[in-house]
Order: sequence, then C-alpha cells, then structure tokens
Amino acid sequence: MKIPKALNTFCPKCKTHTQHQVSIYKAGKRRALAWGELRHAAENMGYGGSKKPIQRRLAKVTKKTSLKLKCSKCGYTLQRRGIRLKKAEVA
Ligand SMILES: [Zn+2]
Repeated sequence: MKIPKALNTFCPKCKTHTQHQVSIYKAGKRRALAWGELRHAAENMGYGGSKKPIQRRLAKVTKKTSLKLKCSKCGYTLQRRGIRLKKAEVA
C-alpha cells in the first residue's frame, strides 16, 4: 500500500488539524545488556537447548504496520493504530 508523504490530521498539542510528515515505525535496536536479553542468553546456555520452541509456521501472512506522524508546526510525533499490510511504502 502506498502512503502519502504528508497528510493533514489532528495534532493533540496544537489542538487543530495540521500538516504531518509520515514515516513507517521501525522497532529499535535490541540492547545486548538488557536484563531480559541476559536472562535469555543464560537460559539458552549449556545442555538442554532453547527455552522456547522456534516458531516455524506463523498463523498470519501479514505484519502490523504503524505510521509515525510528525506535526510540522510543533514537532510532536504521534502514532497511528497498526493495520495489517503485506507491504507499506511512503510515496
Ligand atoms: Zn502540532
């Protein structure tokens, strides 16, 4: 699905409709020293293999895509509710 580069929508900071810059949300880089990552590494260490089975077949064909909208007036960034798309493209 093609998504416009800019769109007019409500900004909760400006409390009116303003022009917003559109980008696609991407998850941040995982921190190797985060507590959960350390515990996961510790659980997978030694004999016994991994703690959770590897997911080989997924029920869904698509992934949820959420949009990041940045207000051109105040710079406030908001996110849209994720929708299921095979492919999202800002054009
Ligand atoms: Zn604003």
